[in-house]
Amino acid sequence: MYNNTVLDHFANPRNVGDFPNPDGVGHSGNPIDGDTITIYIKVDDLRLSGVRFKTFGCGAAIAASSMLTQLATRKTLSEALLITNDDVAEALGGLPPEKLLCSNIAADALHDAIHNYMEARKKDTAQKKVLPAIAVKEQEHVQNNLIEEPGSLSDPTQIKRYLRHIIMPDIGGHGQKKLLDTKILVCAADLNHCDFLLRYLTALGIGHIECYLENDTKWESVFDSLKDLNPDVTLGLVKEMPDNIDFNLIFGDSRFTCKITQSLLKAASETSLVPTIIAVSEGWQGCFNYCDNWHALSLFQENIIDKGFPTSPQNRSKTESSPLGKLLSSCFLGTLIPIELVKIRLGLGSLQTDIFYFDLIKLIFDNQFATSSTLYTHYDPIQNEIVAKLKESKILTIGAGGLGCPANLVLAKAGVKYLTLIDFDQVEISNLNRQILHLTSRIGYLKVESAKMALEAVSPLLHVNTYTGSFSSENARALVGQHDLVIDGLDNLPTRYLLNDACYLEKKPLIEAGALAYYGQVTDIIPDEGPCFRCLFPEADTKTAGSCSETGVLGPVPGVIGVLQAVEAIKQLLEIAPSLKGKLLMVDTLESSFDLFNFKKYEDCPLCGKNPSIHKLGLFSFVCEDV
Ligand SMILES: [Zn+2]
Repeated sequence: MYNNTVLDHFANPRNVGDFPNPDGVGHSGNPIDGDTITIYIKVDDLRLSGVRFKTFGCGAAIAASSMLTQLATRKTLSEALLITNDDVAEALGGLPPEKLLCSNIAADALHDAIHNYMEARKKDTAQKKVLPAIAVKEQEHVQNNLIEEPGSLSDPTQIKRYLRHIIMPDIGGHGQKKLLDTKILVCAADLNHCDFLLRYLTALGIGHIECYLENDTKWESVFDSLKDLNPDVTLGLVKEMPDNIDFNLIFGDSRFTCKITQSLLKAASETSLVPTIIAVSEGWQGCFNYCDNWHALSLFQENIIDKGFPTSPQNRSKTESSPLGKLLSSCFLGTLIPIELVKIRLGLGSLQTDIFYFDLIKLIFDNQFATSSTLYTHYDPIQNEIVAKLKESKILTIGAGGLGCPANLVLAKAGVKYLTLIDFDQVEISNLNRQILHLTSRIGYLKVESAKMALEAVSPLLHVNTYTGSFSSENARALVGQHDLVIDGLDNLPTRYLLNDACYLEKKPLIEAGALAYYGQVTDIIPDEGPCFRCLFPEADTKTAGSCSETGVLGPVPGVIGVLQAVEAIKQLLEIAPSLKGKLLMVDTLESSFDLFNFKKYEDCPLCGKNPSIHKLGLFSFVCEDV
């Protein structure tokens, strides 16, 4: 179990960061694996007055670095040099043994920072300026990546569009260019099934997308809308396997994916298999696998049949009658697969060469499905109840951005009839790598208006209410009170406390989430039934919140989290258990790991504890840009 400091850094990775003029900087790790950790130190009278970190590595790297900053702060330099990787690993407790490497890297980076500081002290004052120069150099590196280096992006419009990708050092202008030069084939049964997949692939800037569709109804209008989401992308319809494809994405239910893999296997020749990702969605469950050879492809097919995925019409009757589950699992996969594609193309994170399996009801996320005992499960359909309940539910979302867009698109498709969106902002080009309800032709529109147009196009009977302006202590309770459930689509700390308090006082369930870079988390906050956000993160340290708009985020990552928010919202409304009440789901898309952490009601919680001190809302409103 990670402690509060570590949880806080997961939830708010922007708590990390450098000092304006660090006294020492240390780097450690392997940039090829993406596990680089940078430690910045402030030294006051030979004591570490401040330690901060930056890492673009895995969740374990964040955990190890945040624990290290806690261990080292206020120690003398010589005491800090005695901190070993074992100390970090031991203090972490919950760090899985296979991830202990990250504690090594973190401790090394600290020692490196201290050595750099001491070296600099030995030299004269003129040479001391070398140290701050290291930090400056890093910023310059990003700038150069953006503009000057050959093979990188040079079009200023493209730089703006993909800014949130480009500012992540392991993607940069080069990585984005590589994505734009990528040509893929998407094989799917129909466009409805792969709607999320195509939206996120397009928003990401996968330059050339060819589609093979069993049923290509309405392709022209869908492609027109995708081209408006991102005009850099070319889309085409094919009837047979085109040449020079970099990747093949086979996306559908088990009948469709097995049919396609069988025909590929039949045609298997001496030539090697085009790198292929197969994604299967059935009922509330699904799985995917990356195959780079014929053997892996046939093994995948055998495995999913062994595990009970239905491939014949007789076995399909049960899942056919659960269209809601099938919708949710295909939306979820539609956000995961573009991330896997980026990871493979740019060599980031760990490759998913085993089958990744998920069950959205049981909250199972298993990245060793082929060797695990988990079996595909049939759920009984509850379709009639679903339609009636979702029709009458009213859902409020704060923020029509990276989380609000996918969450509301899922809810609209699922049949929710009353959605309310609040956002003060206008659509900008830099939103379009992830905010899939907006379009290039709607840049400058109010986000709530743009989102309303997109949602009403999906479901004509839908009623979308829009509010422009701040969500503040003045309107929070009234807005929350008029709805059955609230979704937090803003990754910003003051609003999280305000929303949490308003939902508790109005007794409304809140689906809480955040996403940044490659990471995200989700929890359900159910007043009087489970702990609240203040139980999880007792102190609001808004001083460390930093700037919301300058951090990188890979487009489909908030998509994964937003879809999970919609799934949890639907489960709450339909009273389907288990839920994320009292559980924090932490997602590390680089490692394809989904970890569940339990947390309890905090007895002294000022809001929901035994002797509460908060009886009305505090005075703040949100000012930051959303995810
Ligand atoms: Zn509480």
